[in-house]
Amino acid sequence: MKRDILIVGCGIFGAAIAWALGRRGLGHRVLIVDRQTPAGGATSRAAGLVTQVRTDPALQALAAETLSAIAVLEARFGEDVGCRRVGALHVGSLAQQEPLAHMLTVCTEAGIRGQWQEKAQVLSQSPWLNPDAFDIAAFFPDECFVDPYLLASAYLRGALQMSAKLRLDTRVAHITHQAGAVTGVALEDGTALPARIVVNAAGAWSNLLSVELGLPLPMAPVRSQYWITERVPEFSPGTPIVFMTDIRAYARPEVGALLFGIRENAPAVAAPRELPENLQGFVFDAADPDGWGNLAEAFEPLSRYFPAIERLGIAHYITGPSTYTPDGQPIVGASAAVAGLLVATGCNGSGITYSAGVGRLITELICGESPFVDASRLDPSRALQIDPFSPTFLQTCAHARATKSTG
Ligand SMILES: Cc1cc2nc3c(=O)[nH]c(=O)nc-3n(C[C@H](O)[C@H](O)[C@H](O)COP(=O)(O)OP(=O)(O)OC[C@H]3O[C@@H](n4cnc5c(N)ncnc54)[C@H](O)[C@@H]3O)c2cc1C
Repeated sequence: MKRDILIVGCGIFGAAIAWALGRRGLGHRVLIVDRQTPAGGATSRAAGLVTQVRTDPALQALAAETLSAIAVLEARFGEDVGCRRVGALHVGSLAQQEPLAHMLTVCTEAGIRGQWQEKAQVLSQSPWLNPDAFDIAAFFPDECFVDPYLLASAYLRGALQMSAKLRLDTRVAHITHQAGAVTGVALEDGTALPARIVVNAAGAWSNLLSVELGLPLPMAPVRSQYWITERVPEFSPGTPIVFMTDIRAYARPEVGALLFGIRENAPAVAAPRELPENLQGFVFDAADPDGWGNLAEAFEPLSRYFPAIERLGIAHYITGPSTYTPDGQPIVGASAAVAGLLVATGCNGSGITYSAGVGRLITELICGESPFVDASRLDPSRALQIDPFSPTFLQTCAHARATKSTG
């Protein structure tokens, strides 16, 4: 069995895992399969923020690994992943003083640069912000955003150069196992692809493969969405990402326009079995297909920070499924019950950010090494009692997105 490591799904997680395996000299053992085009799922819809400013050390480390990987892809592989190192401002009311001070302390201790920023300086960086809307601000200069499709493609290209193989138009129907160990996958056309190790990186569809193995993954596909305004001169490409913490919204420059996203009070969630294979034209909520209801709900607070929104046209609306977990932790690790089965999903809206970290972690687990982060909270088996398809559970995951803090 030459290619004995099979990765199901060629989104950013599958590609980053193949890349990390390739860098460990294991590329010749890797086969990635996908039924669609590479990065054609949630990945190509992402806003591309790569944010290591977090309070959880494991998540911070996953993000830091991605920042290092981007630098390696640029310097050694000659890739342009559209990385814009514009930094991030976190702005808020006085009520945010304590949490932001805590964030600054935690990040500084972890070696992440950050500082309080005077209002005048904030406004010179982000002239679109209304100075009366916020009291305090902190700036983290190393935060960035990328083109997620380009980053996933760069991982994949690197993996293929390091001998991994990609097989498209390949629909996995089941992950097969015998006597407590993985044996490979069965395709929808009945073909068996043998493998000693299978990594389930099937994104929002992962539960369709893992539930039947007795491994329900505590996550659900929740609608993520953002809007891009028409182009105006004040949105110069160098303006930082801005997190408006009180109103749980963010914005970043996008080729002369402003891209902005919100955390809805009641996000739409999809039943995993009803999520189509091809997301083109998929509607989460028939009553509000374009998210206008959510935007209307957020409009008043948003326009306080961003008054120009009242006169600007919206040029684009992007939406897709992000897999949210009730505890906000991704799902990355090995199954305790089926040897050779690993899972990488449950991104909580941060899969681009975590990508190379997830690749490294899965590689270390495959190699039988101690992981570089404490992965105990990411354990795929942490909620074996749940029914991930039940309406109640889906709502729990939607609530997790609604209450997630920005950043
Ligand atoms: C609107 C939006 C904005 C976002 N913004 C950000 C952001 O700013 N920063 C950030 O870090 N993250 C962001 N995210 C989250 C990010 O997009 C995801 O975390 C990430 O793309 C997940 O990657 P993935 O590889 O797990 O899934 P996907 O990209 O969905 O890939 C899964 C792949 O598996 C394949 N597959 C599934 N089932 C099978 C099967 N049975 N057989 C064969 N192939 C199969 C699919 O075809 C697909 O290609 C955003 C998401 C959305 C929707």
